Amino acid sequence: MKYEVVIGLEVHAQLKTQSKIFCSCPTEFGRPANESTCPICLGMPGVLPVLNKTALQLAMQACLATHCSISPRNRFDRKNYFYPDLPKGYQVSQFEFPLGLNGYVNIQVNGTKKKIGLTRIHMEEDAGKLIHGENLGNPGKSYVDFNRTGVPLVEIVSEPDLRSAEEAREYLTQLKAILDYAEVSDCNMEEGSLRCDANVSLRPEGQKEFGTRTETKNLNSFRFVQKAIEYEIERQTQVLEQGDKVVQETRLYDSNKGVTFSMRSKEEAHDYRYFPEPDLVPVVIDDEWIQETQDKLPELPEQKRERFALDYEIPEYDAGVLTTSRAMADYYEKSVSLYPKPKIVSNWIMGELLRELKNDEREIDECSVKPEGLTDLLKLIDEGTINAKMAKTVFEDMYHSGKSAKDIIKEKGMTQITDSSAIENLVDQILQANADQVEQYKNGKEKVFGFLVGQIMKESKGQANPALVNKLLKERIG
Ligand code: ADP
Ligand code: MG
Ligand code: ZN
Repeated sequence: MKYEVVIGLEVHAQLKTQSKIFCSCPTEFGRPANESTCPICLGMPGVLPVLNKTALQLAMQACLATHCSISPRNRFDRKNYFYPDLPKGYQVSQFEFPLGLNGYVNIQVNGTKKKIGLTRIHMEEDAGKLIHGENLGNPGKSYVDFNRTGVPLVEIVSEPDLRSAEEAREYLTQLKAILDYAEVSDCNMEEGSLRCDANVSLRPEGQKEFGTRTETKNLNSFRFVQKAIEYEIERQTQVLEQGDKVVQETRLYDSNKGVTFSMRSKEEAHDYRYFPEPDLVPVVIDDEWIQETQDKLPELPEQKRERFALDYEIPEYDAGVLTTSRAMADYYEKSVSLYPKPKIVSNWIMGELLRELKNDEREIDECSVKPEGLTDLLKLIDEGTINAKMAKTVFEDMYHSGKSAKDIIKEKGMTQITDSSAIENLVDQILQANADQVEQYKNGKEKVFGFLVGQIMKESKGQANPALVNKLLKERIG
């Protein structure tokens, strides 16, 4: 039996505010445990929450940037459950009247474009964090840090429109880019600013009804999302193939073992007893405010991608990679303004620069080579000071040492040999040492030419100007 995969994602993004959603405690990451707390976010009796206007503003930006319509009347609801990281015994969220409805995100996988529907976007507060003593050399004890309680979030719920782990990853990539561009969230996955729950089900190909889904919670990297989904597809296929039924349940992903495991089944699922939050007034959002927010939205990834492809005449693929984050797009545009050869700049960023960043697991704004440094290097190639191959070595050095291209070239005496007589000497030397090959070349074995060029370049320690080597060699034996 062939099965079709059906996936819907729920994404939590932390809104980029200075203070929490209902009190003035700071949201700054990494502060000592429980220092960013007050009676409000600790859920003391008798306190009154007040909505942070910036949080609402950012949530509206998230809605508009994903083409959601904004509900004019917004209400918060209490979602009741007990957990040690939830001091109030309920989470303030939005249930019946979410802020945004019916949006979409466009994705592209293997050249095919697809629209992924968004069911809704709602605002809510985050819970705290449990720290288990095992990790502190204190087994058997658990601690709780309330710094995160009351940190503002949006939850973005997609329609079950995704059909593969790859599409899910692409959707997340696009969504993250949109939230980054619209300045809604810093989307830092290591710090928990972006987390994802993946709902996965299978159905026999051709069947209309959806199959039973599982929900794998709290995935905090793109790779884990993809791996967890792939694992679930595998697991559910086996279950169905054995004639069993998939159990609707919440699962967790163990990134060390690369498997998902059951956390709770549907029977144990919570009844949250939602009811309207009585301590907060409903918020009315008028058209003027919506329009103002819409007008202030910056250029979004999709528009930027199209503009890059058109204006810089680079392939769509390049434009896609270069616009995955605003910082990268800015880096690219700055570089092209300093060195107006768009495709060459694109090649260097996508090749050398991204490779180094990937190795280091760093973002482009943490890179010590700035657009000025990169384009200075490219100019040195054009001026003939170094060749492209040497430039790659210089770049690596620049990336790791933070030094300028000029300094590195000077220190290492790396200048390119462009003096014809010096190269002629090298050519002679190699021709003498390879008389057999020269004979073969003269008898029509053309491949030997490349071999001889290689030998000359090697003899020059990569410093000879390749175009000149080719030219002079051709003159001698061509
Ligand atoms: P819950 O609170 O139970 O998780 P939500 O409505 O918040 O429910 O989220 C449901 C998510 O699951 C949505 O992203 C939706 O697209 C997805 N989903 C619903 N049914 C299926 C299904 N059969 N297979 C895969 N995903 C599904
Ligand atoms: Mg859910
Ligand atoms: Zn507080």
